[in-house]
Amino acid sequence: MSGTPSRRTVLRGLTVTGAAVTGFDPGARGWAATTAGADSGSVTEVARVPRLDGTLGTDDPSLAAAADDYGHIVHRRPSAVLRPGSVRDVVAMVRFCNDHCVPVAPRGQGHAPFGQAQVDGGLVIETATLADIGPLGPGSTTVTVGAGARWSTVARATLAHGLTPPVFTDYLELSVGGTLSVGGLGGQAHRHGAQVDNVTELRVVTGAGELVRCSPSRRADLFHAVLAGLGQCAVIVEATLRLVPAPRTVRRYQLTYDDLAVFLDDQRVLVQDGRFDYVEGQVQADAAGTFGVFVLEAVAYGPPVGPAPDDTALLRGLRHDPASAHSTDQPYYDFLDRLAPVIAAMKAAGIWTYAHPWLNLMLPGTSAAALGARILGGLTPADAGPGAVVLFYPLRGDRLTAPLLRSSDETVSYLFDVLSAAPADDTAAVDRLLATNRAAYEATAATGGTHYPVGSIPFTPADWRTHFGPAWPALESAKRTYDPLGILVPGQGIFG
Ligand SMILES: Cc1cc2nc3c(=O)[nH]c(=O)nc-3n(C[C@H](O)[C@H](O)[C@H](O)COP(=O)(O)OP(=O)(O)OC[C@H]3O[C@@H](n4cnc5c(N)ncnc54)[C@H](O)[C@@H]3O)c2cc1C
Repeated sequence: MSGTPSRRTVLRGLTVTGAAVTGFDPGARGWAATTAGADSGSVTEVARVPRLDGTLGTDDPSLAAAADDYGHIVHRRPSAVLRPGSVRDVVAMVRFCNDHCVPVAPRGQGHAPFGQAQVDGGLVIETATLADIGPLGPGSTTVTVGAGARWSTVARATLAHGLTPPVFTDYLELSVGGTLSVGGLGGQAHRHGAQVDNVTELRVVTGAGELVRCSPSRRADLFHAVLAGLGQCAVIVEATLRLVPAPRTVRRYQLTYDDLAVFLDDQRVLVQDGRFDYVEGQVQADAAGTFGVFVLEAVAYGPPVGPAPDDTALLRGLRHDPASAHSTDQPYYDFLDRLAPVIAAMKAAGIWTYAHPWLNLMLPGTSAAALGARILGGLTPADAGPGAVVLFYPLRGDRLTAPLLRSSDETVSYLFDVLSAAPADDTAAVDRLLATNRAAYEATAATGGTHYPVGSIPFTPADWRTHFGPAWPALESAKRTYDPLGILVPGQGIFG
């Protein structure tokens, strides 16, 4: 229909860069903005946005960026992006969105690969501006950090005082809020649990817009619903993290195997006897172009945390190929940040912008070898794409205490990740890998395993219920209590 647009249409159309968002039109479900020269009376028809310390953007670049993520597979365009200038902004906007039933998703670094931090027509809260690191001294046992802080910044700040969070993800440029929403796993988790097991307090904004402090002894139901809770009940704005003394240097061993079952068994021995501070492993291509080389990666911390590493004692009884074993000594931070040069190379090669249909599973220990062999048997390194990585390492069930971080019921589960890549416009390859992911998940679930929810596996609400198992009733109840209108993080697809 042509002709003079109604005032309401004009309000919805004002999304040019630089326009200040002033209100929300509940009838038209759109944000309203004014520009110089616009009818100043026009916003009287709309609900006024609260006064903010930060900014609310409706410009095209902001919306387009928030409609994409590391996966480049799912695209859902929000209608506005909040860059909070304060925690008060988060409270005000979540409350506002709750009042008007606008869906909301916090976004840390946008490294989830399957639309998890996207929200169609809603509000994305970019947490990067909430990145303060609290006071620290040599004897600190905890540090309080903003949810948008990246782990690299947290590590550098604490290391200046000889301290460190006990567990890190392999890649440090992820936000604290983003990894605490999923779990946060790394090679130290066999000793210390996941990152979520090392949080003493959270400050969160619930879906109803209430700013709450919670911990194991205060609003414990909320605390446990937020850690590894995939953003369903509250937006984390601040986390208090446990600290331990940091080593100055580490010794990193890489041990090669040609037998998957032996490799997994040696890893299990190591996490059960605890002789190393860090244990991970990778599956690599062999000369025949199949996934046939297994590399165990184990790290021993040096002084002041441990004694100078003793090679003979550390490698005793392991069944790797001794000819290919090697070790390197390096400063602790360089070890933590070991992926930085790899990722710089991926960016230089243009692979970083590929689609990432990642598969991330938690395999029961007793079926890990069979499941791993079956999944890898149906996939070649060429299928997994350029720069693809396969991670395979054990986690101890007794160290994973956060109820919503699901693994198997066995004493040892294995994290099994196929980190695939395909050109973003090769939809056939992406769809093939998504179908492979789904089949691998089903085979895993049939043996009592599940997924680690940082990947790209097509999932239904019924799958989520199965995934959370005995933890589902508490999550469902917390959702009803803290996000009664269900506005938070629809991109996970948990509640329909
Ligand atoms: C290169 C790479 C390496 C990785 N390595 C590891 C690894 O070693 N170990 C590991 O465990 N994971 C790893 N991951 C996965 C990663 O931990 C998760 O995808 C994590 O959620 C990403 O953090 P982010 O800041 O980018 O979060 P986003 O992608 O921005 O958000 C992820 C989810 O968390 C929610 N969310 C974000 N911030 C908050 C908040 N403040 N409050 C509530 N909910 C929030 C979002 O709405 C979304 O649903 C890796 C990912 C990549 C891309």
